[in-house]
Amino acid sequence: MLSSVRLIFFDLDGTLYRSTVIREKFAEAAACTLKKFKDVPLGDARHLIQTMRQQLRLRYKDNVPYTLALQAFGIPIDFWHRENIAYFDPRDHLEKDDHLRRCLMELKRKHRLAVLTNNNATQTQRTLEALGVGDVFDEVFTYNTYKLLKPDHLFFRKAIEHCGVRPEECLIVGDRYSIDLEPAESLGMHVCEVTGPEDIYTMCNNKVKEDGT
Ligand SMILES: [Mg+2]
Repeated sequence: MLSSVRLIFFDLDGTLYRSTVIREKFAEAAACTLKKFKDVPLGDARHLIQTMRQQLRLRYKDNVPYTLALQAFGIPIDFWHRENIAYFDPRDHLEKDDHLRRCLMELKRKHRLAVLTNNNATQTQRTLEALGVGDVFDEVFTYNTYKLLKPDHLFFRKAIEHCGVRPEECLIVGDRYSIDLEPAESLGMHVCEVTGPEDIYTMCNNKVKEDGT
């Protein structure tokens, strides 16, 4: 499959790294954002978000990002992004991943690489820098690029149009099927569901075997 792929898109959070601390930081930042926006106690905000995410999970059949849960409360995305940028810096909590870097550099010999994430540009750059892969990707598409979020098909379509590739020449790698992969698959892209960077290491090893190099 990889031989026909010109461009590989990677989701960021939960795909290029997995971190309990960052997940907790996002959860707390989301609760603080709702507390500020609705002027409710922090405990209530936590509960409201949890309930909303459970409801949305039924619709999307998957855990939804905090962005979508907060949006359901009428919180503007830019407001949420300003709050989480101020609340935590991923560089304080993530370490360089040399294994990931080696794998991506190997894939880069034959494919263009891009990031396609619902995260904002600031947190995305901080995260890529923390992982030591800030210079690896040819393109980085964040929420800020088009003010669009996965699973909106338009986000995928605009990104591939920008890169000048056809859907069937793309592979999307992500950890949430209904958010990252289902829209891409319906547009004709190849998809690969992962549970974290370990699956990217495996993907790279398989590729090396496929190439016989
Ligand atoms: Mg993800």
